[in-house]
Amino acid sequence: MNKLPETIKVLVVDDEQDIRDGCERIISRMGCEVHKAPRGDKGLEMLDKTPYLLILLDMKMPGMDGLEVLEHIMEKNDEIIVIVITGYATVETAIKAMKLGAYDFIPKPFEADQLRIVVGRALEKLRLKSEREKLEAERKRNLADLAAEKSRIRTIVESLPNGVMVTNMDGQVVLMNPTFRQHLEFDGHQGIGNMVNECIVDEGFCKFIQEICEGKYMAQNRIPTYEFAISEDKYLQVQGHPVLGENGEYLGAVVVTADITAIKVLDRLKSEFVAKVSHELRSPLSTIHEQLAMVIRDFTRQSDTSQDQELHMLSRAKEKTSGLISLIGDLLDLSRIESGTVCQEPRPIQLEDLLESIVDFLKIKAESKKQKLTFQRPQEALPKLTADPLSLESIFGNLITNAIHYTPENGQIRVEAAKEDHKIRVDVIDTGFGIGEKYVDKIFERFYRVKDENTRYITGTGLGLPIVKGLVDSLDGSISVKSKPGEGSTFTVYLPAR
Ligand code: ADP
Repeated sequence: MNKLPETIKVLVVDDEQDIRDGCERIISRMGCEVHKAPRGDKGLEMLDKTPYLLILLDMKMPGMDGLEVLEHIMEKNDEIIVIVITGYATVETAIKAMKLGAYDFIPKPFEADQLRIVVGRALEKLRLKSEREKLEAERKRNLADLAAEKSRIRTIVESLPNGVMVTNMDGQVVLMNPTFRQHLEFDGHQGIGNMVNECIVDEGFCKFIQEICEGKYMAQNRIPTYEFAISEDKYLQVQGHPVLGENGEYLGAVVVTADITAIKVLDRLKSEFVAKVSHELRSPLSTIHEQLAMVIRDFTRQSDTSQDQELHMLSRAKEKTSGLISLIGDLLDLSRIESGTVCQEPRPIQLEDLLESIVDFLKIKAESKKQKLTFQRPQEALPKLTADPLSLESIFGNLITNAIHYTPENGQIRVEAAKEDHKIRVDVIDTGFGIGEKYVDKIFERFYRVKDENTRYITGTGLGLPIVKGLVDSLDGSISVKSKPGEGSTFTVYLPAR
């Protein structure tokens, strides 16, 4: 029985016509359809044809008596609710009937109310039973759905073209799909249950997962990525996210890997091509630049005003070649940084001395815009840095030159240096145009230049900051910028003191 039929069919088996009719009257008013049988065998016959849920059965009948009928009923279906009707003297029979599986009994003679109460209780039991069975069926269906859903998700994860690995908070691997194993070139023994650092050799990757579990990237509102080489000709990019519980607590990390070897190879070919072209162009351009300078010198000496227009054109051409030479210089620098062949001759450096000399050198440029460029030596000497001085000159030279370029006349530029934990922090602070929030992430991309009212007439290549970033990265440092349009910008560089 799952769903109760709208009208419950009740069978009354009794040899007394009055009782049968009385029962019919009362029970049919309770919304049931009542059928009647005058004898036990007739009742059983009717039960074969109709699925009665409730039977009122007289115990004392001629022919087959109530107990025997009850036994047959219970054999057929022990879920049928049977209420036995007993006479005064047959309490014992009632007990016997209950033992055989009858639900309740009602002694003869009975009042209409008595019958209503007993039948009402039986109907309530039927309703509750049907409800319980319905809930149970629903639970089973939910469980089946859940199991199907689980296996569906597992199949999807297993067939993803990207690698997927999930760890718990302790860095223990709890899921790893076949693509991940293939990406990491696992030979079989690494797997679920292992600690990440037991499976993965790359320390940066292990640190990346640890940082995700610690929630380091949550506030940054972006998906952090990490790139590393598995072998000389295989590169992977990893994206990660913390796994959060229902209450926002950290449960672990999920990382997705993608094979970016093809992109890397293309990037390398592009860099090599750019480097080659730049290299080939540099000498002829420098020669043109020199020759233009000579022609302009000769023209100026002749002080012939009729040729002013030609002179102007030549000067423009010289300016343009000089812009091209600087672009080529930047491109060559960038490709050297990318290929790791940038001049890296590390030696111990007292950074405040180097910063002071850069600031002194660039003061003339700042003064030409009536700007105040200052460097405040830290009160305590900074710990020595071991780095390539040319790289450091390029980093801070670029940042201070930018500050001069993007700060209007009479502005101020301050350079500050300080020790912070095991790092050296340098701030280049200006009171310039500032950078809109939407551009801040982009200015470190190659060739990106902010184009607005303030910067429209300032020439540049858009390669200065990518060079700075590349060099800072190569020194294991970091660079960030804080800026407010109209108020100024602060570029902060951290370098490891070692
Ligand atoms: P370039 O200066 O040759 O354009 P960069 O890569 O050095 O290229 O800088 C990229 C862009 O970042 C610049 O075009 C400029 O819009 C912005 N920028 C850099 N430094 C500053 C600064 N100190 N203040 C305001 N904007 C800056």
